[in-house]
Formats: sequence, structure tokens, C-alpha cells
Amino acid sequence: SRFSVGLTGGIGCGKTTVSDMFAALGASIVDTDQIAHSMTVPHGPAMPAILAEFGAGFAAPDGSLDRAKMRALVFADSTARHRLEAILHPMIRDAAYAAAAIATGPYVMFVVPLLIESGSWADRVSRVLAVDCPEELQVARVVARNGLAEEQVRAIMATQVTRQARLAAADDVVVNDAGLEELRPQIARLHANYMEFSERMA
Ligand code: ATP
Repeated sequence: SRFSVGLTGGIGCGKTTVSDMFAALGASIVDTDQIAHSMTVPHGPAMPAILAEFGAGFAAPDGSLDRAKMRALVFADSTARHRLEAILHPMIRDAAYAAAAIATGPYVMFVVPLLIESGSWADRVSRVLAVDCPEELQVARVVARNGLAEEQVRAIMATQVTRQARLAAADDVVVNDAGLEELRPQIARLHANYMEFSERMA
């Protein structure tokens, strides 16, 4: 099979920033957050199952998912979160594989925020790459980007694996604790390795 990378990292660690740099070098990026979003747009493919499970009240007037309402529910109720994930995760995985199958780059990089948490992803990629940064920096970046309160960011972080667990599960690590200039040489080095791995597996 083809060489693939699973890129993960806690909220605000820099997954998008890093995957944009790999894309600029030619990697084919399959972003599961984008896929998840596309499934819950008006008449998106996950909407019938979500509304059947949670009720028509979870649709916004335009037929998309009422994200604020669903977010409030799943943060207060982990059973509801698991029910939502049971609908979305298999659909996301199928769509991600379909996108990978038609990708033309030398290798595919799946961006999966909850790669370690979901379990099934780790066995399906050739290598796991974690974007790492100190927790204080995660909080500062998300507060600055989304205008969330610090406690809200920490509540989200509490639903994700710890930094240590993520590092322990990773084959490769990008350290994103400084500027973009510190990032570039790390990405270039990893990309060169991934090109070599993909040639060997071809
Ligand atoms: P999420 O999990 O919320 O989707 P993410 O892991 O994809 O986040 P990014 O969106 O890439 O993280 O980065 C979070 C924020 O921090 C963004 O506003 C981004 O521009 C900024 N950022 C990330 N890395 C750096 C860096 N090295 N220098 C400056 N700003 C950065």
C-alpha cells in the first residue's frame, strides 16, 4: 500500500499551519476537520442520521447543523458526544480514504485532530506525526484566534489526550514553540524523509 502520514496535535498546536507547509512542498493533504464540516453543511451527507438521532431541533434554518447547540450538548454530555462520533467518524474515515485514493501527490498526509484518541487511525497510517507545543502556548493561541476564555480552551484540552501521551504515540514530532522560521527547516527535513519512504514503498 501507499506511504501515508497521520498528522495530529492538540487544539491550537499548529496542525493547519504545519500541514500548509507540507502542502507547499507537494504533499497531498486530507483534512478530516474540513471533511467533518462538509458533512454537516445544508443537506450534508451526515445530516439525516444526526437529525434522526438527536432530533430536528438540531438543524439550523438553512438545514445545516446547529453547531452552537450541538457543541453545548456534547460538551455537557459525553454519551451524546459518543453518539455523534459514532455517526460522524466512520463517514469521515470513508470520505478521507476516498480523497486519498484520488490524491496525486507523492504521499498523503491525513490531518486528524483526535488521531490518538480515536484509535483506529494509528493503525491505518504508515507514520504518526505530532505537532507539539507547551500547553500555555496552546491556550494563548486559541484565546487570541477564537476569543475564547482561557477556561473554555482548557475544557477542550481536557477532552484530548495529554501532551505526553501524544508524544509517546508519535513516530515524528514537529516542535512548534517559536516562529514560522523555526518550523520551516523541521518540515523540510521531515518531507525529505517522507519522500524517501514513499519511494521505497512504491
Ligand atoms: P485547531 O486544533 O484549533 O484546528 P491547529 O492545531 O490547526 O488548531 P493552527 O490553526 O495552525 O492550529 O494554529 C493556531 C493559531 O496559532 C493560528 O492562529 C496560527 O496562525 C497560530 N500559530 C500557529 N503556529 C504559529 C507559529 N509558529 N508562529 C505564529 N503563530 C502561529
